[in-house]
Amino acid sequence: MNPPAIAIDGPAASGKSTVAKLIAKELGFTFINTGAMYRAVTWYVLQQGINPADAEAVKAVLADIPLSFGKDGAVSTVMCEGRVLGEELTLQSTNDNVSTIAAIPEVRALLVEKQREYNLTEPVVMEGRDIGTVVFPNTPYKYFVTASEEVRAARRAAQGLTDSIAERDRKDSARACAPLTKADDAQLVDTSDMTIEQVVASIAADIRSRMA
Ligand code: C5P
Repeated sequence: MNPPAIAIDGPAASGKSTVAKLIAKELGFTFINTGAMYRAVTWYVLQQGINPADAEAVKAVLADIPLSFGKDGAVSTVMCEGRVLGEELTLQSTNDNVSTIAAIPEVRALLVEKQREYNLTEPVVMEGRDIGTVVFPNTPYKYFVTASEEVRAARRAAQGLTDSIAERDRKDSARACAPLTKADDAQLVDTSDMTIEQVVASIAADIRSRMA
């Protein structure tokens, strides 16, 4: 039996990243940001001058891709040839192409394997799009964090984001392989009228009561 895995999925600007990080801290579990893993592959592919829409060319570099996935304290990190990636992951070019790369089944298979490895030895709070549906389908702790379209738009604007998040959500939901969707057994958490503190408290209380 693996240690517990908490799956937190949802669209962008739903508040799920902040919530997942705080829940991990509160429970003393490792926080794993799977979006960073898809972003790292995207950045690398672009660096190599490969067209992200050319799935065959992307697949060809996967076997020898020099990325590794580790931790800094209790937070996941992504490295390229031993160097921790940071701003590379939020470049406009990375934002614009990540959904295309994430739709390639072979990319997903590679990263899902790495994601599961984290949980072999430690309890995790893992944030993404397919954690409850694909990565940990058997975990009893699944939360689908969302917010109304208006609230998400306002949050995006408040953050001054230029990233076309709505377009990414559309592509992520429409793809054939592991689309963004709520697992049937996930709890829906609508954060539209809640503060971050309220969301964290409610999810953490639910996990604790069911673990007890
Ligand atoms: O979470 P974040 O917004 O950084 O994710 C970036 C992109 O990575 C998403 O828009 C999606 O295309 C992809 N992703 C995914 N599956 C995950 C996590 C992220 O397809 N589990």
